[in-house]
Amino acid sequence: MFDLMKIYRRLFKYYGPRHWWPAETPFEMVIGAILTQNTNWKNVEKAITNLRNAKALTPAAIGALPRTELEELIRPSGFFRQKAERVQLFSHYLRYNYRGGLAEMLRQPLAALRGELLARKGIGPETADSILLYAGGHLSFVVDAYTRRLFTRLGLLKGDENYLQIRNFFMQRLPEELRLYNEYHALIVIQCKEYCRKKPTCSGCPLADECRYLLDQQSPLS
Ligand code: SF4
Repeated sequence: MFDLMKIYRRLFKYYGPRHWWPAETPFEMVIGAILTQNTNWKNVEKAITNLRNAKALTPAAIGALPRTELEELIRPSGFFRQKAERVQLFSHYLRYNYRGGLAEMLRQPLAALRGELLARKGIGPETADSILLYAGGHLSFVVDAYTRRLFTRLGLLKGDENYLQIRNFFMQRLPEELRLYNEYHALIVIQCKEYCRKKPTCSGCPLADECRYLLDQQSPLS
């Protein structure tokens, strides 16, 4: 029977360390977390490269850009008007409340910081937890659609749990280790891209031997 650590060990052995999140600075990571909403990472990389080439990867530089210019730079990430507003609002917030110092903001205790992030326009629980974990080094498990899909198929979730219930499910069962949280989310993502897609490719999947979905498919009653 699978438990969370057995699944983690299996995925880690199969895929190896994922080195996620791929950003040069915590601020770049935060911008990437906002830009990755509703798009794939390749599109975000193009937008981040544009921002880097324009030397616009600081709160001051993003805040000072004319909105139309910022929209053009991040256009590859999709929903570029909405996202331009969000990254600019976040940059203004940092400048006026923390003198642009993201590190100061991230130094707060987890619960207070999570509440503050969730109060920002365009930052939902997944984005907030990504920022907390990957930019802030806080123990906050990141849940996404991949997490729900994989663990429902494995038989550990029912599938109708809300975000917080799934986050709690992981956080109540996993050891409190930053590297584990960091790697686990990234491993779920790669597993769902490689095998557990919307239409799963179960042959060769590293979790196939104990997967509830696959067992149900193979059952003579199904
Ligand atoms: S066996 Fe199939 S359904 Fe189960 S985790 Fe692997 S890919 Fe997903």
